[in-house]
This record gives sequence, structure tokens and C-alpha cells, in this order.
Amino acid sequence: MTPSPARIVVVGGGLAGLRTVEELRGLGYAGAITLIGAEARPPYDRPPLSKQLMAGAVDDTTLRPELDSLDADFRLGERAKHLADGAIGTDRGEYAFDRLVIATGARPVALPGSGRQRFLRTIDDALALRAVLVPGARLVVIGAGWIGAELATVAAARGCTVTVIEAAAAPLAGAIGAEVGAATAPWYEQAGVELLLGQAVESVREGGLALAGGGWLAADVIVTAVGVKPDVAWLESSALKLENGVAVDEYLRASVPSVYAVGDCAAFWSRRFGCRMRTEHWDGALRAPAVLAANLTGQDQRYDPVPYFWSEQFGRMLQYVGDHRGADRLVWRGRPSGQRWAACWLAGVRLVAVLAVGLPRDLQQGRRLIESGAAVDASRLADPAVPLRECVQ
Ligand SMILES: Cc1cc2nc3c(=O)[nH]c(=O)nc-3n(C[C@H](O)[C@H](O)[C@H](O)COP(=O)(O)OP(=O)(O)OC[C@H]3O[C@@H](n4cnc5c(N)ncnc54)[C@H](O)[C@@H]3O)c2cc1C
Repeated sequence: MTPSPARIVVVGGGLAGLRTVEELRGLGYAGAITLIGAEARPPYDRPPLSKQLMAGAVDDTTLRPELDSLDADFRLGERAKHLADGAIGTDRGEYAFDRLVIATGARPVALPGSGRQRFLRTIDDALALRAVLVPGARLVVIGAGWIGAELATVAAARGCTVTVIEAAAAPLAGAIGAEVGAATAPWYEQAGVELLLGQAVESVREGGLALAGGGWLAADVIVTAVGVKPDVAWLESSALKLENGVAVDEYLRASVPSVYAVGDCAAFWSRRFGCRMRTEHWDGALRAPAVLAANLTGQDQRYDPVPYFWSEQFGRMLQYVGDHRGADRLVWRGRPSGQRWAACWLAGVRLVAVLAVGLPRDLQQGRRLIESGAAVDASRLADPAVPLRECVQ
């Protein structure tokens, strides 16, 4: 076992950065830790921003009320600018490290145009947006992805007039494919939300959106929710290999010795799925740091998750586990017009992903089937009365 490093610097004060510090101390690491975080606030949780916080049920989602017990140097409100030769340069100074952890997360993609477009990534974004989502406000959300759907749900409940405009043919098409995503389209109308599909936005202007093809959509409040990009532009001048994020191996090690990455910014090699993968999931930011901390302190643990994500929209709980990109077959469990159903993706005879709507048991059992790699019987899978765990061939 290699000796523990004397000084670890973590860049990024989100869930993954904080959890890395917690796991290091939990393992008994007694060296110096510095965490550099661009946001001035202490680390907080993001999933409630588009749910409970937007609805007004909570105002604060701070993850850990006291940071002192972690005995780390938290440099909040400070931004890393470059990485070179064993040191990080920030807008305030230089930090030498023995090991560096990059946990800078992701930032929203903006659309062209000089009109005001809001985003929903930070707690400040969320609080400012909530303040203008008053009854009667005309909200246009660009993008019918996870965040767009959640925001539309809450805004409609707050009495706003909500339109969601989406370039693809179905909601969630980028995340779960148009066929399954289409099953969620009726939910918009049921909630009183207008859904415009197959319509691309050309630019964001004062008072509305110019649409590709010449149309105009008026709005009081415009939220762009067309996805995020890993926040790694500051590393472009470094020697690090970037490939849709910081490219890391199965041990979360980057291409430069002593540098690691974790969370939304890390594109890790998945042995299980045989591809490079970058997830934007709370569960990854929560769990990967345990593996990372072990490796930082001399162990060799593989990070090989079955990715998990959830979303709360239109009165439903959606849970997705796995990765369906290598799938060759889709099997429905239950009618997608109903309140509870699941979509199962197969690659040959193996289950590779499940989307469960209102069916947490299918999610749990599906996760175990994916983890085991067992061959499943597709005809039993299609019968919602047969528990997933009993679908093994
Ligand atoms: C509104 C919203 C709702 C969500 N809902 C869900 C959900 O329901 N289910 C789910 O699974 N996931 C959800 N997510 C995703 C989940 O929150 C993220 O996957 C998770 O926050 C990733 O954590 P992270 O620490 O990797 O990155 P982040 O949370 O993005 O944290 C990265 C931090 O690094 C900082 N940083 C960036 N660049 C620098 C720099 N150069 N120097 C210093 N600091 C820097 C950033 O300011 C940020 O504070 C949601 C996300 C949002 C925004």
C-alpha cells in the first residue's frame, strides 16, 4: 500500500467535493485537505431546487450545517483557473498538492440571443426564479428534459401559464429515447402545461423567443433547460485528457498522475457497460467519493456503478437505473397510459436499464438483475404481474 498523501486539494464544493472530504476523514485520513469552491455558499443539495424549494416548501438545502468537524480548509467563493505541475491556480492564489480531485460538476448550456434567459443550476438561480413565478406569469421553459418537466410541474401548480418548447419529437427524448419519452407527453396537458414539440428555438429575445422557421413565442420569464456541460473549460490549457469531461479510468484516475475526478464532471470508464460514461446523477456524486477516497489513500477500488437517477414530475415518481444505450429491445410492463408502468431495455437476453414510473419495487429488483447480468425471459418481463426478480431464465 502506498503511503497517504500529505496534501489533498479538492476543486468544486458541490455534493461530490464535500463527500470526498467526508469520506477521506471517515477513512481516517489525517493529512491536509483544501476545498476550493466557486460558489460562496457552503455545499448544498441541488435536486430539491426544482422540487421542494421551487414549490416553497424549503428555502435552504445546505448539506452539512457545520463544516468545522471535517478539519479542512474550505476556500469558498474562489475559482480555480488553471492546473499546472502539481499546483492549482485560482483567482486568489496558488495551491500545491500531492493529490488533486476535480469535482467541478456541470453548467447549463445557453442559447443564442440577447434576451434574458434564466437557468436552474444554483440555489441563487432557484430563489430568483421562484420569486418571479407568480400567478399569471407567462413562463416558457426551453427543453422538455428532467429539469424542464420538474420546473413546469411546480410552476403550473404556482398558477403560472406554462409553455414547454422542445426541439425533439418527444419529452425526455435525449435521456430515455423518443418512444418511452412520448409516454410522458400527455402529462403536460393534464397539468395545464402547453407542450410544443419539434420546435427549435433560434434565439432568446426581449419578451420572447424567435423560433427556427420564423415563429414568435411571447414570455415574461424564460428558462433555458436544454442540458448541461461538464465544467472543465478551465482545464483546457492543462495536460489532462478531456473527453466530454475529465477522462478517468475505472479507479477515477485522470491521465495525469496524482489527479482524479468525480461527480458530474468525470467521464469514467465503465467496465460493466464497456464504454466511457459521464452521469449527471445525484447518486453518482454521493457514492463515487467513497471509492475515490479509498484510492486516494492507497487502495485500488474500481468504480463500476449501475447508474441511478430519479425525477418527480406531474405527480409521479420516475426512477431510472442502468444504461440503455447498448440495448436492442424495449419491453413495456403495464400500459404507459396508466399511473404505474415500467420500460425495460434488453441487450440480447440481459436487462440493461429500467425506467419505473410509480413502481419502486421494479426499480429495486431491476437494479439487482442488471447488476447480476443474469439472462431474463422477455415474455415474463412483459407481464407486470410477474415480479422482476422472477423473470430470470
Ligand atoms: C435543479 C436540479 C435538480 C436535480 N434533480 C436531480 C434529481 O432529481 N435526481 C438526480 O439524480 N439528480 C438530480 N440533479 C443532478 C444532481 O444534483 C447532480 O448530479 C449533482 O449535483 C452533481 O454533483 P457534483 O458535485 O458533481 O457537481 P455540482 O453540484 O455541479 O457541484 C460542482 C461545484 O463546483 C463548482 N465549480 C465549478 N467550476 C469551478 C472552478 N473552476 N473552481 C472552483 N469551483 C468550481 C461549482 O460552482 C459547483 O458549486 C439535479 C440537478 C439540478 C441542478
